[in-house]
Amino acid sequence: MVEELKQKIRDIPDFPKKGILFKDITTLLSDAEAFSRAVDLIAERYRDKKIDSIVCIEARGFIFGGALSYRLGTGLIPVRKAGKLPYKTYKATYELEYGTDTLEIHQDAIQPGQRVLIIDDLLATGGTTNAVANLVRQLEGEVVELAFLIELTFLEGRKKLIDYEVFSLIKF
Ligand code: AMP
Repeated sequence: MVEELKQKIRDIPDFPKKGILFKDITTLLSDAEAFSRAVDLIAERYRDKKIDSIVCIEARGFIFGGALSYRLGTGLIPVRKAGKLPYKTYKATYELEYGTDTLEIHQDAIQPGQRVLIIDDLLATGGTTNAVANLVRQLEGEVVELAFLIELTFLEGRKKLIDYEVFSLIKF
């Protein structure tokens, strides 16, 4: 089943920069059966984990965060690129596989002790999710797990996320 999903992901060489093999998930998302199966397979894992909220990372993390939170009946917390959130925020700057970036979370997004699942579409070097997990901890949320549709295992992002449980549905 996971193998079928894997085949729905399209490789785009040299995007957005030379040397990056971009994993294009639009070909999975546009396939009704593949998209719902991917969401269901991830949701299944968290059904009994008492998740209060799902933190999702702009922009492709929003796609899975929204579907999962609806499926699991949890709240949804968007972590956004700098300057997009309207209320008071905490910021985290981190390194990407290609460049650096800053993400923000609303200061009141999480209540202390809330059980949070963090979701993004893809784990590469782990820098993005590590920064987001730090923001969740700053707000005293409990990070239950970090979940990804795709993991690029050769980049060893898990090494950067040693403090957390990590799950990925599809591995390359
Ligand atoms: P990282 O912080 O290195 O784990 O990078 C993860 C973020 O960058 C995710 O939000 C991904 O969407 C994006 N990303 C990094 N590398 C790729 C890639 N090869 N294909 C698609 N997205 C990528």
